[in-house]
Amino acid sequence: MFANYHSHTTRCNHATGTQREYVERAIEGGYRVFGFSDHTPYPFDNGYRSTFRMLPGELEGYVRETLDLKAEYKNDIDIRLGLEAEYYPRYFEAMLKMCADYPIEYFILGQHALNNEFDGVYPGHPTGDEEVLRKYCAQVTEALETGRFLYLAHPDMINYTGPDEIYEKHIRGLCATLKRLHIPAEINFLGMIDQRHYPNPRFWKIAGEEGVETVFGADAHAPERVYRPECEERAMAMVKEYGLKLIEKVL
Ligand SMILES: [Zn+2]
Ligand SMILES: [Zn+2]
Repeated sequence: MFANYHSHTTRCNHATGTQREYVERAIEGGYRVFGFSDHTPYPFDNGYRSTFRMLPGELEGYVRETLDLKAEYKNDIDIRLGLEAEYYPRYFEAMLKMCADYPIEYFILGQHALNNEFDGVYPGHPTGDEEVLRKYCAQVTEALETGRFLYLAHPDMINYTGPDEIYEKHIRGLCATLKRLHIPAEINFLGMIDQRHYPNPRFWKIAGEEGVETVFGADAHAPERVYRPECEERAMAMVKEYGLKLIEKVL
């Protein structure tokens, strides 16, 4: 694998290891480009406190440590400074404004909640409700249309358990948007390792038919998960099976 843009740090409260360990594992694995994309802080203003992302006050330390490592390892690997963000309509502009004080190179979209996190559902819970599927596709589409995202992480996080025809009706539209905007969708290695409901063959079959560009993402929350050749093999098999267009270097 040439590049990975999806990795976390302990600031999100559910990752382990030092950032240096992630970098050293990336070099060992032969990456040329390695991006940190920890869960972005969000400036909620209603007293709600998210448990799976850094706090606004931690952003500066994240930026500094990443840039220090980038400079230190510049002859070995190209380290990139990114963030993984949900699109929360009410706070999105405020989040971008907060991040604009720093040289953030990219955002990847990981839609872990619908609406605004404190007033919406987690799309990864199994559901037969078409409305949740519709809402997921609509919110992700709106996010992609902002033009602020490098790619869509785990596009198949939506865990709709209903009939294929209904799934297809909504997902085909989302895939057409990805294709039209030239925004790649990610085959997520964390989902593979933890045997989650994604990568979902149902999604990737449609993505292949629609000509969606595809990227691999480790979504590493531990240094030993930065480089996993068995995941890469499985993802390559998916690329072949579904006729996906693999993009190795997106930035
Ligand atoms: Zn995470
Ligand atoms: Zn992630």
